[in-house]
Amino acid sequence: MSTLAPRNVAVLGATGSIGASALDVIARHPDRYRASVLAAGCNVEALLTLCIAHRPDHAVIADDTLYARLRDGLSDAGLATQPHAGMEALDTLVAAPDCDVVVAAIVGAAGLSSTLAAARAGKRLLLANKESLVLAGELVTEAADAAGAEIIPIDSEHNAIFQCLRSRQAQAEVKRIVLTASGGPFRGRSRADLAQVTREQAVAHPKWSMGPKISVDSATLMNKGLELIEAHHLFGVGRERLDVLVHPQSLVHSLVEFVDGSTLAQLGLPDMRTSLAVGLGWPARIDSGVGGLDLLKHPRLEFEAPDTEAFPCLRLAWDAMAAGGTAPAVLNAANEVAVSAFLQGRIGFLSIPALVEDALAALPAAPADSLEVLLAADAQARQLTERNLAGHLSP
Ligand code: NAD
Ligand code: MG
Repeated sequence: MSTLAPRNVAVLGATGSIGASALDVIARHPDRYRASVLAAGCNVEALLTLCIAHRPDHAVIADDTLYARLRDGLSDAGLATQPHAGMEALDTLVAAPDCDVVVAAIVGAAGLSSTLAAARAGKRLLLANKESLVLAGELVTEAADAAGAEIIPIDSEHNAIFQCLRSRQAQAEVKRIVLTASGGPFRGRSRADLAQVTREQAVAHPKWSMGPKISVDSATLMNKGLELIEAHHLFGVGRERLDVLVHPQSLVHSLVEFVDGSTLAQLGLPDMRTSLAVGLGWPARIDSGVGGLDLLKHPRLEFEAPDTEAFPCLRLAWDAMAAGGTAPAVLNAANEVAVSAFLQGRIGFLSIPALVEDALAALPAAPADSLEVLLAADAQARQLTERNLAGHLSP
């Protein structure tokens, strides 16, 4: 019997929440997968700890002022891991012939370049970095299709839809795709109630443990808005076949309705290791470390319509998707700046949708047929929103 070498997996965003889940699943299957590249933004100590545990071939720190610390830490630990710094190193490493699978789990538009590089190089791409699809969905999916890259969505909703479709193409027999949303920590609150909520309350998600940016996006419902745009690109469906349903238990991860009246859904405990195991093993099923779902322990599954009055970000995202062109890039960039300012305690919660709305109004949608145009729209929206922060600063 021949034994195959384990597949080399590059984990981008290794020190984050998705990175930790990915490394957990990989470590359960040492005969099938190994972490060959580990990359982080600026947390060099956490990256070194992961290198000691996983012994990758390469470690990358995006912040190049930390290169010396990474190099010295690896050498002090007696590791053969090669140190690298800067985002360009990621693009080269994910495209290298010895890289088989890329886990794209950098947060924000910062993940676009490495996501595109993996797509262009025809890799299996486990895509968690939803912002890259919002910003440049067509470019990413076209590059993947042209190069034969397999994109497997990791976002739990899109992973659920992928499992129901057993593909990334929603054929004509798909009548409707329904994304479920937990509703976040402020479900049921009125707009007036939301004026005073704090950073700590916003990041305390009731069901999922996630990084700070996506936790705030879940609290504003922008996360679901970004996910609508993500679904549009991943599955080739227009607005008219997309819907959102709030489901506070977070056990039904999304649903697909077919023309014959059947609805398929994927259910499971809210733990991202399931999506990552699907991404690594597909079409095989592999152990993820996540237990099965005992519905007797969760007898109540509730559903309600989203409240776009209290949570206007969802409406803003629908509108940006309808406007198309540069609008989703503007939406995403303004949101990244606003969420970062909120996390720093500089602005209030309701300023997030206000700043996004202002950016969309000031920068109307223009046709976007190239990466340059999209990156220019992203940069313009960031500058504008940085300037507009002044009018929103907390006392
Ligand atoms: P996180 O904040 O926990 O981790 C982010 C990771 O990205 C860290 O490793 C950080 O070092 C790295 N990073 C940040 N800026 C970088 C840069 N400029 N260059 C290189 N690396 C950089 O975030 P997370 O919750 O793991 O989310 C990661 C992505 O996955 C996001 O796009 C998020 O929307 C998506 N996602 C997350 C979850 C979840 O459950 N956490 C679910 C669905 C989708
Ligand atoms: Mg999601």
